[in-house]
Amino acid sequence: MRRFGGVCMNGCVSVCVCTYECVCPCSRVIECNTQDLQTILNILYILNELLTVGGGRRIGVFVSKGGTGILLQLVISASKESPPSEEVMLQLHSVLAKVGPKDRKFGVKARLNGALNVTVNLLKQNLQNHKLLLPCLLVLQVYSSNTVNAVSLGKNGVVELMFKIIGPYSKKNTSLLKVSLDTLGALLKSKTNARRAVVHVPVLLYIYHDWHRNDTCHRHILIRKGILGCLKNITNIKLGRKAFIDADGMRILYNTSTECLPVRTLDPLINTSSLIMRKCFPKNRLPLPTIKSVFHHQLLRVPAGGPVAQLYNQPLGVDDVVDESDDNEDAEAENEVEEKDHHAGNDDIETDINKLRPKETHSRPFEELKIYERFFMELSEDFQVMQYIFLSAPKSHRQIIVPTAQALPLKNHTAAPLQGECPHPATVPPLDLDTINITKDQDGCGDHTHSRPHPGAGLEQELVQGLERVALDGAGPQGGGGGVNKHNRQSPILAAGVAARLGGEGEEMLAEEWVPDTALLLPLHDPDLYVEMVKSTCSVPQFSEVAYPDYFGHVAPTFREHILERVYGVQRTKIFQDIERLIHPNDILDKVVYDLDIQSCPVIDGGESLKFNSQFESGNLRKAVQVRKFEYDLVLNSDINSNHYHQWFYFEVSGMRVGAPYRFNIINCEKSNSQFNYGMQVLMYSVQEAISGRPRWVRTGTDICYYKNHFSRSSIAAGGQKGKSYYTMTFSMTFNHKDDVCYFAYHYPYTYSTLKMHLQKLEALRTPQTYLREDVLCETLGGNSCPLLTITAMPESTSNDQICQFRNRPLVFLSSRVHPGETNASWVMKGTLEFLMGSSPLAQSLREAYIFKIVPMLNPDGVVNGNHRCSLSGEDLNRQWQNPSPELHPTIYHTKSLLQYLAAIQRAPLVFCDYHGHSRKKNVFMYGCSLKETVWETNISATSCELHEDLGYRTLPKILSQMAPAFSMASCSFVVERSKEATARVVVWREIGVQRSYTMESTLCGCDQGKYKGLQIGTRELEEMGAQFCVALLRLKRQTSPLKLRNHAHLLDVESDLMETRCKILIPKPLLCCLGCVPRVVVLLGGEPSPQSEVLSALKQVFIKDLSVLCSVHLSHVPD
Ligand SMILES: [Zn+2]
Repeated sequence: MRRFGGVCMNGCVSVCVCTYECVCPCSRVIECNTQDLQTILNILYILNELLTVGGGRRIGVFVSKGGTGILLQLVISASKESPPSEEVMLQLHSVLAKVGPKDRKFGVKARLNGALNVTVNLLKQNLQNHKLLLPCLLVLQVYSSNTVNAVSLGKNGVVELMFKIIGPYSKKNTSLLKVSLDTLGALLKSKTNARRAVVHVPVLLYIYHDWHRNDTCHRHILIRKGILGCLKNITNIKLGRKAFIDADGMRILYNTSTECLPVRTLDPLINTSSLIMRKCFPKNRLPLPTIKSVFHHQLLRVPAGGPVAQLYNQPLGVDDVVDESDDNEDAEAENEVEEKDHHAGNDDIETDINKLRPKETHSRPFEELKIYERFFMELSEDFQVMQYIFLSAPKSHRQIIVPTAQALPLKNHTAAPLQGECPHPATVPPLDLDTINITKDQDGCGDHTHSRPHPGAGLEQELVQGLERVALDGAGPQGGGGGVNKHNRQSPILAAGVAARLGGEGEEMLAEEWVPDTALLLPLHDPDLYVEMVKSTCSVPQFSEVAYPDYFGHVAPTFREHILERVYGVQRTKIFQDIERLIHPNDILDKVVYDLDIQSCPVIDGGESLKFNSQFESGNLRKAVQVRKFEYDLVLNSDINSNHYHQWFYFEVSGMRVGAPYRFNIINCEKSNSQFNYGMQVLMYSVQEAISGRPRWVRTGTDICYYKNHFSRSSIAAGGQKGKSYYTMTFSMTFNHKDDVCYFAYHYPYTYSTLKMHLQKLEALRTPQTYLREDVLCETLGGNSCPLLTITAMPESTSNDQICQFRNRPLVFLSSRVHPGETNASWVMKGTLEFLMGSSPLAQSLREAYIFKIVPMLNPDGVVNGNHRCSLSGEDLNRQWQNPSPELHPTIYHTKSLLQYLAAIQRAPLVFCDYHGHSRKKNVFMYGCSLKETVWETNISATSCELHEDLGYRTLPKILSQMAPAFSMASCSFVVERSKEATARVVVWREIGVQRSYTMESTLCGCDQGKYKGLQIGTRELEEMGAQFCVALLRLKRQTSPLKLRNHAHLLDVESDLMETRCKILIPKPLLCCLGCVPRVVVLLGGEPSPQSEVLSALKQVFIKDLSVLCSVHLSHVPD
């Protein structure tokens, strides 16, 4: 006992005939007594007994003392006896079956020893001897888990052997059957063996069905699972999948699974069946002529070898080849909920210390950068005309903010675009709103006729039918030929247009009230201004319509929108419905109802199908196919000049039936997982709701899930990887209103035209203390201008001291929306801009503390055209920062140049931050750059390089985590990854030398910590985040230079108040608006009865209800 310490086994002495206390010496006894059969048997009995009662630990000791080798040796010597003793073999295999699973090298040992064949021969000769068969099979199962053994056993006919043992339902020998199936399953993991077993697929299916039918009490689930396990492994190869389909496997597994559904304990069977069926479901190509974007933008220069050249140099159809290669999908989890947000692997971390060190050399000569001086007028401003500024009325319309000698009139006050040859100069002749045709399209053919309500027809219905489109007639600089647009079904409707259709000039006043007056609630929103902005927006598809949500605006709901709890079995149900398409093909309509690839589309029918549309800014639906009565497959368009990046979506639906259970499937998603599997919902905007006083996007949809589907992805669109499939994002939805027009989006839309509208409104809000300048940084490839904002405080006076303080304020450089699908980034930016332009004392001191340089939309073209990731060059602009091209990536090139200019004049910004959205994580967080933290993550010896690093980069995220409820410090990372080395954050850190260079990522889903834990994120929270970012900068300022803010000590209290309640920041304006509603309601209530009195009274109710909602909204804003 002492000798073996803790691992010694009690009771050994009393049983064992040898003089030692333990099993290990037992084996020595066997070794020297191999001549005596009875002794061997006795020892084996004892050993068997010892290992059975001793458990895993005892077996472990036995293995570590070389027990396995001795046993295997015994097997060999016993096999040489003729005939071999059956009892010895039985006992030997029983012991081996216990030892094998605990010995990691068991398979190798057995092979080298030659025991493999002994066991196989024994099996072959004793197929009827069940007593001996069982331990041999158990040992064989352990042998087979080694792949080399599996192949060798297969060659020896073991696969065939197993098929002789397994059979249909029988109450006899179930344990034997179970072991044979597991052994077979292990053998079939080898593709050679799977090929051998292909012919047996019908047998396996038959046996499975037989067990399913007879095992009514579900006593043998493990046997049934064993059969499925074999099928699962055979169908890993293409031949196996074919055999499965040929043997009617889909129907058999579908039917058995459906019968299993009510019994929860049978879930493992259903899950494995579903896995097999999904794998075998014949791969289809997407129902598209090509996966290249339906729209093409001709680049002025197509760089050879670039993505666009690659895409368009391919022979026709090559990009859509259905690939049925033998992909091994074993890795795919059978479990339907599986969170594997594996952090970018360690191999992505930059290990080259020289690449990590900030590189201070400026590659560009100053002469070249000097032209950017014009964007930094504030650095040389002398305010000789200050008097004028202070005297002029603060609320002057769109006007130059700092009139200087260089200032130009409206629109032209901005610096000239850097690309002179841009097709659409910034000065677009302003189109009058009156030029918008106020007509209604009756039949969708462009025949504009004014209509009167049908007698007896509900006015509301009539109204909404009219409200199908807000469209621009002859809109935009390119849109003059509206007919160019092949899908131009425009029925241009604006507020006044509604009046026209209501059947009389007299009712215009009433009709106008149908447009929700969001301008009252949203200080930056103005529908008319929005339409005006859209006219000067250039899109590749030449959009001529305006989506209602963008026109009406979005008033964030006040109710909470919880992250959904996933309902058990949703994904399985959806997958089964997909499989039914194959089982019952006659139930499938397969009717194309919307198709951008075909001229004549959409099909107009007798109201049996939904109508789809996304011919408006940021819209990107390519095709809609009605699959069943209430189910639609939707295909998204690729980013322009690309053949992938499908994730963002924005489209319109009309012609719905109230209460019908619609199911929508977006079938060409690409990411392997999505927050739609973790509680995120889609966003919906109902026009009926909007005109009833609730103009807002709401989280909606049930039975939401995201899973791999049967549409094959060509390797060209999957980065060279073969055998990839697309993913389906599915959601169900019942509509509440008849004749509604609803919009669905991936996230809260924020168009380029919305940005332009917001900027104009912000400018109007400017106070005399605010210095605001809007420049055009450059023109984009699509002819849109990229705004650059400068925001700071005016100097207090023209004294030298003040001017000096003004010019020497540190710079903060912010950018956003380089990725068009990350609309949340724009909402955060809106919060930042609104705060910065605000009249609060905090905003004023922030402006006095810094000069803000802001590029609010780095990728306007991507946003306009409904891209998810790229610009018109077909490239991810946030991977171009190392070497941006002025022709292909103008916004990046010039933004980087601004920063290079600042570095050259020794004014590199204190903080750089690029706002993004994150589709896989929750909360808001930051990525930064730290040399030390990157080195710590790698194996580079930290002592081998001198590391001096200020920890200042952690301050801002730390402050944010203390004050912004959505922000999570735990999600932040400061490690520099190789794959990110061409991003804004890393390049600005390394090349410009900005230590506080960040990417701020906002979740698309919601929060799992802090005050918003369990809630989905909304625009209110995103805007709040943008505002809190500003307040954090003020605190950063205080921490970096506490003396300078001494004069503002009184503000610190306000600031800490603000940190506790976000609401105060945002209250004042809406509250005023709310009060502003009162007279409106009163007027309405006193209105004269009219032919539409019913409608009028309904309207009154809405306003009254609205008022109470508004009041409650604002009351709820009062800090707790
Ligand atoms: Zn991004």
